[in-house]
Amino acid sequence: MGPEEHGGHCELEFDGLRIPAANLLLEEGRGLKVVQTRLGVARLTHCMRWLGLARRCVEIARDYADRREGFGVWLSDRESVQIMLGTLAADIEIGRLLVMRAAWELDRGGFAQKEVSMAKIHVANLLHRAADTGIQINGARGYSKDTVLEWIYRYARQARLVDGADEVHKMILNRHMASEGRDFWCWPVQGAAT
Ligand SMILES: Cc1cc2nc3c(=O)[nH]c(=O)nc-3n(C[C@H](O)[C@H](O)[C@H](O)COP(=O)(O)OP(=O)(O)OC[C@H]3O[C@@H](n4cnc5c(N)ncnc54)[C@H](O)[C@@H]3O)c2cc1C
Repeated sequence: MGPEEHGGHCELEFDGLRIPAANLLLEEGRGLKVVQTRLGVARLTHCMRWLGLARRCVEIARDYADRREGFGVWLSDRESVQIMLGTLAADIEIGRLLVMRAAWELDRGGFAQKEVSMAKIHVANLLHRAADTGIQINGARGYSKDTVLEWIYRYARQARLVDGADEVHKMILNRHMASEGRDFWCWPVQGAAT
């Protein structure tokens, strides 16, 4: 159901494949580590693109609400529409902060596993809501192909699956809470009490 980005996707079938031992990544059984190290950063770049898409949804919705009048009231003057857009504004900013927090941890040399998981869960779900709200405010126009909203709506659905489904990332967070105890909430800022 996704758009045709990155040239699309295909199925690969491996039948009797043999790989020379010289091509082994790390040691036997540890190759996944290589992939996972790359994935932490990749998930953040997903989040950056998704935040941009969420902002685009808000822009398109605001633009329409500013020039659509029904029963003598501009859509942008309706409180319910203002609340929808205000909620998205706050959620986008939270998403940006979570991405910055994870990037900071990576810059410090950490794996940022829990920080990346939090950013990925939040921004994936935010993108979903932003596309949905954008379509809602645009009415039938949002459902049509007149704007990029329907494209974003289809694209958004994969965000909660790719590079780890929501449930998997939430389990990772719970695992960190169990192993770190109260340190889970600690921000390693110089001079701050732990
Ligand atoms: C558009 C798109 C692009 C992709 N691109 C890439 C790519 O570039 N590289 C790549 O390697 N992969 C890619 N993937 C694969 C993607 O990472 C997987 O689809 C995703 O990790 C989910 O795995 P799965 O499809 O095997 O679902 P499953 O593992 O079968 O999971 C199905 C559902 O079960 C639930 N679930 C799974 N595990 C758990 C658990 N431990 N606890 C609780 N619930 C669970 C979740 O709700 C999940 O959505 C892509 C997928 C899509 C749709």
